[in-house]
Amino acid sequence: MPPTTLPSKSESKQPEKTPQKPRRIVQPPAAPVLRFSPVAWAKLLYFRDRQETEVGGFAVTSPSDLLKVEDFITVKQDVTVASVSFDDQAVADFFEAQVDTGRKPEQFGRIWLHTHPGGSPVPSCTDEETFARVFGSCQWAMMFVLARGGKSYARLRFNVGPGGSIIIPVDVDFVTPFGPSQQEAWEAEYKANINAMAWTWGLESHEPLGKDLGKPSTLDRVSVPDDWMEELEAMEPAERQLIMDELSARPDLWGGNQGGFYE
Ligand SMILES: [Zn+2]
Repeated sequence: MPPTTLPSKSESKQPEKTPQKPRRIVQPPAAPVLRFSPVAWAKLLYFRDRQETEVGGFAVTSPSDLLKVEDFITVKQDVTVASVSFDDQAVADFFEAQVDTGRKPEQFGRIWLHTHPGGSPVPSCTDEETFARVFGSCQWAMMFVLARGGKSYARLRFNVGPGGSIIIPVDVDFVTPFGPSQQEAWEAEYKANINAMAWTWGLESHEPLGKDLGKPSTLDRVSVPDDWMEELEAMEPAERQLIMDELSARPDLWGGNQGGFYE
């Protein structure tokens, strides 16, 4: 919108101390909004609700509006109720395929989307660590979390200059024409990419002590996201016990998130 000019106040009847020049009102830049196409949004919801785990992926955005999400694309990943671990090679392949279609990195490599199976979209400590580690070298990047029930969290982070972060609103754009549901294709993608595992934490108790001496501590890759702990605390004791029992019954799955894109 072009700058507008207000009528000079000298035309009013209020006594003027000094004649004023017309004041120029400069419109502030429009506040950024993360806007989803209805199809991208529907796909994200489909993946969110498909099982009781987190699911992660990348936003593909419009070349003319890098905050307009036209697609949500997943890569091969191991997921649990509280974590997402991308396969490194799959991420590399995804980036390469996107470049091959003529997209620029800022259209597909800057917005990290993931879902929470609980009601809180607040990023966990591991989410923050992942975001800083993986996206910290980009000029800007965004962390977006969508929880069950519809609450979401979008934070734009600038790493240039003094840096800084802002929480921005999220919207679904039903005005621009949009395509139909692609449920069959989504289901095929889900089955191909999403490997659900039981949530695991703790040390691998069957390993002898000292086995990992000199290696990075097992504790480094075993963490319990805050939001999940809160949910665990809020559970009925019987439900909590059930989950604890399930976890303790599957030591083979413990500590399986080395390296990669761990959240
Ligand atoms: Zn998370």
